[in-house]
Amino acid sequence: MKTIGLIGGMSWESTASYYRYINEGVKKRLGGLHSAKMAMKSVDFAPIADLQVRGEWQEMAQLLVQEAQALERANADFILIGTNTMHLVFDEVASHVNVPLIHIADAVAQQLKQDGITKVGLLGTKFTMEQPFYKKRLKSLFSIDVIVPESPDQDTVHNVIYNELCVGEILPASKQAYLDIISRLHQQGAQAVILGCTEIALLINDGDTNLPLYDTTKAHANMAVELALAQ
Ligand code: GLU
Repeated sequence: MKTIGLIGGMSWESTASYYRYINEGVKKRLGGLHSAKMAMKSVDFAPIADLQVRGEWQEMAQLLVQEAQALERANADFILIGTNTMHLVFDEVASHVNVPLIHIADAVAQQLKQDGITKVGLLGTKFTMEQPFYKKRLKSLFSIDVIVPESPDQDTVHNVIYNELCVGEILPASKQAYLDIISRLHQQGAQAVILGCTEIALLINDGDTNLPLYDTTKAHANMAVELALAQ
């Protein structure tokens, strides 16, 4: 079994989901007392969230490069960045380590492709919804069109992530707001919705809506399990 490297803490609420999904995946595949071989670096999210607000992406890239290199020294065979947003600096981090960095959007896009989805709604932080790094990758590598909510809805999605989900607050009113936004994405032609922030599945899940939901945390974790157990 290969060793999975995970840069966590962004937020730790979703890192806990990663840890559970990865270990459940290994247990499902190998059974018995098997569990995942992992190395993790978990950061303090508060200073990073401040840098996000200030738009200091180069500084954040350097920070994540250090974490990724530490995981490399800890013998990780490949590395996940456990947040969608921080994939904004994916290329910079990937170019500073010798082991593969596994892109979260690729993990979810492979599932969308398999299911024949060609037009998908994207929920995430404003950085993920607004900036091109995520949408462009889905379009150019997987021919999947991405639609995002209108600006006021983007604010709602973003604020719920930082003010509630990242601090472990799960509020019914916010769940309803998300479901309303999802139904507006459906009206705009989305065949499915990407939960493009690693905490969103703490709030909504399959069964809450008729539209298929693709949880990026689960997709990323599942891909890691496949890679770790590949011959
Ligand atoms: N975990 C979130 C994401 O997947 C948001 C926190 C962050 O900005 O990293 O984008």
